[in-house]
Amino acid sequence: MTNQNILVWFRNDLRIHDCETLYRAFQQAQQTGANVFPIYCFDPRHFGETSFGFPKTGAFRSQFLIESVGNLRANLRSLNSDLIIRIGKPEDVLPEFIQQWGISSIYYHTEITSEETTVETKLSKILKKQNIAIHSFWGSTLLHPEDLPFAIANLPELFTNFRKQVELDFTLLPIFPTPNSLNPLPDNLDVGDIPNLAHLGLSEPQPCDRAVLKFCGGESAAIKRLEHYFWQSDRLQVYKQTRNGMLNADDSSKFSPWLALGCLSPRYIYAQVKQYESDRLANDSTYWLIFELLWRDYFRFVAAKHGNKLFHRAGLRGMDLPWRQDWERFALWQTGQTGFPLVDANMRELSATGFMSNRGRQNVASFLTKNLGIDWRMGAEWFESILIDYDPCSNWGNWNYTAGIGNDARGFRFFNIHKQSQDYDPHGEYVKHWLPELAALPANKVHQPWKLLPIEQKRFQVRLGVDYPNPVVDLFASAKANEQIYIANYDGSQSKG
Ligand SMILES: Cc1cc2nc3c(=O)[nH]c(=O)nc-3n(C[C@H](O)[C@H](O)[C@H](O)COP(=O)(O)OP(=O)(O)OC[C@H]3O[C@@H](n4cnc5c(N)ncnc54)[C@H](O)[C@@H]3O)c2cc1C
Repeated sequence: MTNQNILVWFRNDLRIHDCETLYRAFQQAQQTGANVFPIYCFDPRHFGETSFGFPKTGAFRSQFLIESVGNLRANLRSLNSDLIIRIGKPEDVLPEFIQQWGISSIYYHTEITSEETTVETKLSKILKKQNIAIHSFWGSTLLHPEDLPFAIANLPELFTNFRKQVELDFTLLPIFPTPNSLNPLPDNLDVGDIPNLAHLGLSEPQPCDRAVLKFCGGESAAIKRLEHYFWQSDRLQVYKQTRNGMLNADDSSKFSPWLALGCLSPRYIYAQVKQYESDRLANDSTYWLIFELLWRDYFRFVAAKHGNKLFHRAGLRGMDLPWRQDWERFALWQTGQTGFPLVDANMRELSATGFMSNRGRQNVASFLTKNLGIDWRMGAEWFESILIDYDPCSNWGNWNYTAGIGNDARGFRFFNIHKQSQDYDPHGEYVKHWLPELAALPANKVHQPWKLLPIEQKRFQVRLGVDYPNPVVDLFASAKANEQIYIANYDGSQSKG
């Protein structure tokens, strides 16, 4: 066995297409005749608890992760290699493995947020002592730092300014080719088993036949989803008009869970959009999907610029509002019992499936923070626990933004749940889908059931306060009260882009 072997440490980049680490390791191996050892570590810290005591990675995302790792293993096997599985902290597991298998260099994708970078720092300290060459790459966004027309430290504080500047000269490097074959791993290497949910201390989630899509982890399923959404059903061409829908699988791309674990490369999506534009059509919808991916990039660069402020109570803006930690009301929000059907339907969808549309997320986050005045970090952590597509930068960035304490906060803005319900669920189909107790109500009554007269409650068989709760707050009075608090603490000085 040569002593020049290469370790490719997979993290949130569970794919073989457009994978710079795998490609570069493959190139190096071709030059030196070394072996490439692909490895993934199930880190027990990911299966602990958040600071408010929620499971850090709930069952939906854990299941999706297990499937994604399994699919990466299958795809590496198709290249004659395999995926080595270890359970343990990477900074404990990898140095030992490296010593055992004559490894001289490691390739991995670098991360941005502190939990992940702490692991990198600890690991690289040990590896430097072992004289291991460390090659780390930026890999999860459309634009890489070197593609930006400014240093990350000078990132605009407003998304619009970021977008306008990057769109002036929008050129991306081509995607990295997939290696056609890798050297097989040594026969005496125990590649290890992929744990199941029980091994990770979790129970199987209840199957749900009302889910918007049956998400299956892994790059093969991701590419299949893209094939379906772009090429077979042609939904890309109407994306801009349908993306706010909450009920149907093809209302939006549903790429987010695969993007979050890196099963799907955003640059691959971009290349496919360009292909679609040249083969079929280019319109505002094809542009808009890229626009949304730029939001994703932006939140990652915001996290790189502002660091841990993203997770602090006072947020990126440093606005220390007197948020309430009212667990009783939080539980009503969490379980979909607030008495506002749009909020409740979305929260029940989240609990039952691990997914919620972007429109839903904006509404429920606004309701928690602007109407209930509850500590936004409780909401962000609940999302972290349960979302199948959880991504620290997108989640905490969006929560900062919706709570009004993001870097670009422009005063107190809240979602008018009544208007949102009319605009995005005019026939009440979405709320009836998730709140069967309201299914008999006509469309013009379903969003404000508290207005039902006793005779109507009887006719439609809904007893308010029994079958469905009365509203926990008055929408406008609660927003007004929280606005006063916000204004008392607001200083407009940071809102320039
Ligand atoms: C409070 C809150 C929390 C959120 N938490 C997450 C999270 O943990 N992980 C996550 O991926 N997204 C998060 N989002 C963003 C957004 O809701 C989801 O990306 C989107 O709903 C995923 O569905 P889709 O793939 O069908 O989106 P599409 O509409 O098809 O968009 C395509 C892709 O663009 C990106 N995108 C779209 N909107 C946003 C956005 N507002 N911010 C960042 N990226 C975006 C996503 O990667 C998405 O997959 C959050 C939004 C809010 C308001």
